[in-house]
Amino acid sequence: LGIVRCVKQENGYCFKEEDCKQNEGENFDFHENSEKWSEFTKPILKALADYESCLFQNCSCLTPVVDEDLKVFQHIGITKIMLENSKDRGTKYQIIGHKLYREPYCLFPSRCSGVEYFILKIIKDLPDMELIINSRDWPQVSRHFGELSPIFSFSKTKDYLDIMYPAWTFWEGGPAISLYPKGLGRWDQHRISIDKTAAIYPWNEKKSQAFFRGSRTSSERDPLILLSRERPDLIDAQYTKNQAWKSDADTLGAAPAKEVSLEDHCSYKYLFNYRGVAASFRFKHLFLCKSLVFHVGDEWVEFFYPALKPWVHYIPVPSSATQHDLLRLVRFAQENDDLVSRIAARGHELIWNHLKMSDIECYWRYLLTQYAKLLRFQPQLDRKLIAI
Ligand code: UDP
Repeated sequence: LGIVRCVKQENGYCFKEEDCKQNEGENFDFHENSEKWSEFTKPILKALADYESCLFQNCSCLTPVVDEDLKVFQHIGITKIMLENSKDRGTKYQIIGHKLYREPYCLFPSRCSGVEYFILKIIKDLPDMELIINSRDWPQVSRHFGELSPIFSFSKTKDYLDIMYPAWTFWEGGPAISLYPKGLGRWDQHRISIDKTAAIYPWNEKKSQAFFRGSRTSSERDPLILLSRERPDLIDAQYTKNQAWKSDADTLGAAPAKEVSLEDHCSYKYLFNYRGVAASFRFKHLFLCKSLVFHVGDEWVEFFYPALKPWVHYIPVPSSATQHDLLRLVRFAQENDDLVSRIAARGHELIWNHLKMSDIECYWRYLLTQYAKLLRFQPQLDRKLIAI
C-alpha cells in the first residue's frame, strides 16, 4: 500500500490511521458476516484502505476534472474556426471587458439564466473569451467521430469530449414537477431545507427501507420499481408522471405515484440514484439527507461525481443489477448497519462541506480561466449578441 501507514489489518485489508480514528468505538459486525456479504464488505474494506482523502482548498479537489476535460486542447488550442463550427450545437456567449453577451435566442431560457447567474457572479475575475454552452441534456462531442469541438455540457459519459460545467439547476431551470413548478433549482435553499429535515431523522430513526421516486426517464429504473411491488416492506420505489406521461404504460403499468419532496426522502435509510436521460440532478440532494446512497450505473457523470468515491461515499450498483441483486443489496445494508451508516456519513460530509454555492462559483472561475488560456485568438465583440 505504498506510503500509507497501515495501523490495523483485517481480512487481509489495511486500515489507514484516519479510518481507524473515524471508526473508533464502532462495533462493526462484518467479521461474522464477512463470508455472507463478502461481495460488499471486501470492496468496502479495500476502498477504505486505498482511499486518500483529498485536502480541499476551496474547490481544489473538484478541479482535476477541468484539467482532464481541457487536456485534448492543450497542444492545438481553441481556434475561432473551431468555435464557428460548433455554434449550432449550443448557445454562443462572449465575455468582453468583464461583461457577458449571448446570442439572442436561447433554446431553454431558464437553463441559460441558471448558467448566466454563476458567470455573472464571477465576471469581474474573468478575462475576455468566447464559448459555446450546450444547455440540452445530451452531450455533443463524440470521442469516436466528428471534429474536436470545444463545447460545454453539464453531463457526459466516457464516449464524449464535452467540457463539463455545473448544471443550470444549481440556480434554476431544472425539471419542472408539481412540487417544483418553476423547475428544480436553488441548491443553496435545498441545502438548508434538506439539512433541516435530515435533523428530524437521525440515522436510527430512519426507516430501514430503500426509497426512490421519479419518472421513467430511463428503463434502468424498472427492476427496482418491480421489486418494490413485490416487497413493499423493504422498498418503496414508484414511478411518477413527467411531462411526457400519456398513460399508465409510461409508469410501468401502474398509476403514477404522488411526488415526494427531496426533503421527505430523508426519512429513509437507503436512497437510490439512477441516470435519467443523462445524469440525474437528484444525486447531490440525496447525500444531504445523511442517508446511504445507492448509485446505480457509473456511465453518466457531472463535474463533481469524481470527487465521490464508490464504497467510501456511496454504494455503487451495476446498472445490470437484477431484482435478486437489489434485494440482496438492501438486505446487506440492513444487516450491516454500522458499516453502511459510516458510508452515509462520509458521503454527506463531502457534499455538505465541499459542494456549497461558493464551490460551484470557484469551479466556474477555474474552468473559465483555464479555458480562456487556450484561446488562440483575441475575441472581439460580436455585434449580433445581446448584453446579459
Ligand atoms: N423528483 C422529486 N420527487 C419526485 C419526483 C422527482 O423530488 O417525486 C425530482 C428528482 O429528484 C429529480 C427531478 O425531480 O431531481 C426529476 O426527476 P425524474 O425522475 O422525473 O427525472 P430525472 O431527472 O431523474 O431523469
